[in-house]
Amino acid sequence: MRAAAARLPLQPSRFVSRLLKAEFIPGKVSCLRARRLHTVSKTDVLVEDAKRENWRRRVDLAACYRGFEKFGLHEGVCNHLSMMAPAADGRGQVMLLIPYGLHWSEVRASSFVGLNERSEVVEGDGKAEISAATIHLGVHNARPDAVCVFHLHPPYCTAIGSLKNPELRMCHQNSCRFYNCIAYDRDYSGHSHDDEEGMRIGRQLGDKSLLFMCNHGVLVVAETAAKAFDDIYYLERACMTQVLALSTGEALFELPEELVSQVHEQFHKENDVAKMNFSGAHFESVKRILAKENPDFME
Ligand SMILES: [Zn+2]
Repeated sequence: MRAAAARLPLQPSRFVSRLLKAEFIPGKVSCLRARRLHTVSKTDVLVEDAKRENWRRRVDLAACYRGFEKFGLHEGVCNHLSMMAPAADGRGQVMLLIPYGLHWSEVRASSFVGLNERSEVVEGDGKAEISAATIHLGVHNARPDAVCVFHLHPPYCTAIGSLKNPELRMCHQNSCRFYNCIAYDRDYSGHSHDDEEGMRIGRQLGDKSLLFMCNHGVLVVAETAAKAFDDIYYLERACMTQVLALSTGEALFELPEELVSQVHEQFHKENDVAKMNFSGAHFESVKRILAKENPDFME
């Protein structure tokens, strides 16, 4: 995604709302700790909490980059995954973004730059691609519930999104997971130089969690890295099944809508964090594999 440089201010209320959504409530945690740690000031504890949470999110985001690269869902040094996090110095929050030119297999937790609401690098070393920064900030702004905004060009998703009818067909269990979760953007107009591109994408997304950016790629928004990672992984699997089934030249057998809706509900109930938490379990398993094969992602 590309667009000209722009400044898209984020509203303070949205910052607060995003922090609460992400279960990072520094004041609440710190007051309790401050009572126990008499020699440490409340401000010190707040900063320590922010720093810890910032690092935890950096590790998760690095695991997403490495995991997508491992599964062949990356493309050169392009595409971006962003995540909101408390600033490591305890001053507000930042949007974590890969610095320009880094291959996804090289990404480490310490690699990310942190941008403020004016697209300025205020954390880490390196240069952010200004168009990516602007567009991602725009989407975060349009969807304050989105802690993560991931944009990729996974091969099968992109193939489906390049068809005259780019609809994900409900012909498999994995497809049912995304019933009513996808919006379609048919307005591809080349590399965007429009400062409002992020907001436009946010509007196209509406209240859905996934956007087929037709003739281009896909975008997912989620409250956690685990959910965003899992959504992209399974969306690609669903698209792969559709492409392979269509490649036989036979007609697809699409499931009746009532059954699709039922399977969708089952999945979301079982995936609840308090129950099976499939997304979390999957993401943790990928992190364990990465920790054995490429432990430097945690550095
Ligand atoms: Zn793209």
